[in-house]
Amino acid sequence: MRIDLHAHSSVSDGTQRPAELVRAAAASGLDVLAITDHDTTDSWDEAARAAREVGLTLVRGIEISTVHRGRGVHLLAYLPDPTHPALHSRLLAVLAGRASRVPAILERLSALGVDLTEEEVASASGRTAATGRPHLADALVTKGVVRDRREAFDRFLNPGRPAYVDRTAADLVDMITVVADAGGVSVLAHPWGRSARQVLDAATLGELRALGLTGIEVDHEDHPRPVRHELRAVARHHDLVVTGSSDHHGLGKVGHELGCNTTDPHEYERLLAAAEEAAARSGRAVPDLVVA
Ligand code: AMP
Ligand code: ZN
Ligand code: FE
Ligand code: FE
Repeated sequence: MRIDLHAHSSVSDGTQRPAELVRAAAASGLDVLAITDHDTTDSWDEAARAAREVGLTLVRGIEISTVHRGRGVHLLAYLPDPTHPALHSRLLAVLAGRASRVPAILERLSALGVDLTEEEVASASGRTAATGRPHLADALVTKGVVRDRREAFDRFLNPGRPAYVDRTAADLVDMITVVADAGGVSVLAHPWGRSARQVLDAATLGELRALGLTGIEVDHEDHPRPVRHELRAVARHHDLVVTGSSDHHGLGKVGHELGCNTTDPHEYERLLAAAEEAAARSGRAVPDLVVA
């Protein structure tokens, strides 16, 4: 059984529609896919319809932008009730922060002599509720300012680069609690990739486990082999579920093809068992999984 628990559609910053993403996952030989757009559940219905058509098991998820001790941390929430009031209102706040960041970045770019408009960003981002730096990058590509997303991040959009603007994120610990209240389970995305590692040492991962965190993403392209090895040991020590995923973004991120990392079926079963417990505690009957 091949299981990929982290992928983006064009509802956030991937390049495939949710249905296309699901069909691509089935075509690439995956049995289980989690769709995890940034800060929104808008992709779920279309993905679920496509999953039923092609016979793929679909885990409805969200990659939530959170902050812990001043650093951005991505939290994967699987199978929560999207109508849960606290979850819904926190996601709306994060999405509002994404929207208000766009004009701030455009001002920075303008000061650098790059005149990009909100319309150009909107046309690059399609119908997303979760505009992000990748869409600004795409608009810069369309305008011919840079060759690709990578160059846009390297020159302008990465932290420390001149057009970088921080944005609203949910508090990590609070969000772990909210996801559990909403009947879902949470897994830290790429915890030791980029800057999050500085605030997510092994002891902290244990503390987060005690606060309700279910697992950590170990097999991810942002983690070199030795890091995966070390993280696996931390997971074992703290009884955290270990996941492996592509973090696929369609054509938007090279080297993240569907299924390039996968989750062990036994770990997936543990994750589902935790989701069943969380669903029961929250008063939902069962997790809302599309089973092939
Ligand atoms: P945002 O959520 O708007 O701050 O944008 C963060 C997203 O940008 C991440 O989830 C990545 O998918 C993407 N990203 C970050 N760094 C890069 C990069 N160097 N090249 C391409 N995409 C990137
Ligand atoms: Zn992304
Ligand atoms: Fe991420
Ligand atoms: Fe991601």
